[in-house]
Amino acid sequence: MENDMIPLGRHDRFQFACGPDVPCFNACCRDLNQFLTPYDIYRLKSRLQLSSSEFLSRYAVEHLGPQTGLPVISLKAVPGDDLRCPFVSDAGCQVYEDRPASCRTYPLARAITRSRETGEITEHFALMRENHCCGCEQTRTQTVKEWIEDQELEHFNRFNDMLMDIISMKNQLHPAPLDLREHRMFHLALYDLDGFRRHLQENGVPEGLAMDEAEQSEMMADDVALLTFAHTWIKWALFGKALSK
Ligand code: SF4
Ligand code: SF4
Repeated sequence: MENDMIPLGRHDRFQFACGPDVPCFNACCRDLNQFLTPYDIYRLKSRLQLSSSEFLSRYAVEHLGPQTGLPVISLKAVPGDDLRCPFVSDAGCQVYEDRPASCRTYPLARAITRSRETGEITEHFALMRENHCCGCEQTRTQTVKEWIEDQELEHFNRFNDMLMDIISMKNQLHPAPLDLREHRMFHLALYDLDGFRRHLQENGVPEGLAMDEAEQSEMMADDVALLTFAHTWIKWALFGKALSK
């Protein structure tokens, strides 16, 4: 079988199953090239009961996205020949309920386009058929919609779309590389959620994004609400001037 990408619609059916019975079980958790989104980091650090900065220093590496110039976080592979994921064991994924979006989405790939006029998002899907993966040879079938539901991708996709919005704004409004201060703000807001909470406690919510006291305390006590706000905050911090022109 050749590596292949087959476009699929939301209601199209595809053949795939994965589990301990496939001969390639765990093969895709090696040769790691695993990007983590802000929501992935939140889920994993909560699962492991670590602060965001502890999680990042133990399990992540950061580099600059070659096309976006934005800081990108990847899982740090276990040192060794097979570059395996730190969370894989013989029995499978040890963080299964909180595994990253890309592990859930596979063997599908998801991309979005957003209408300039209405802001409406259109999703595009493709099935990746890869030589190392026997999943597509299994008999089970499901639609793309069923796969998304089964893998509980709804929250992950919602946050991924917020991140894509920031990347698109960066390309349009701030094509130059981020300076050191902007880079630190991006890292703080989107990757170091506990640090971001401390930053807001010390500096307050900026006037342009003000909310009443009750809303603010509710947000501070809820990681998901705080991460949602962090996406708005970084847009304000990086593109505020450009947006108000
Ligand atoms: S997080 Fe889990 S599913 Fe994803 S690569 Fe690591 S072990 Fe595999
Ligand atoms: S390579 Fe494919 S079938 Fe094998 S464990 Fe990974 S996703 Fe499942």
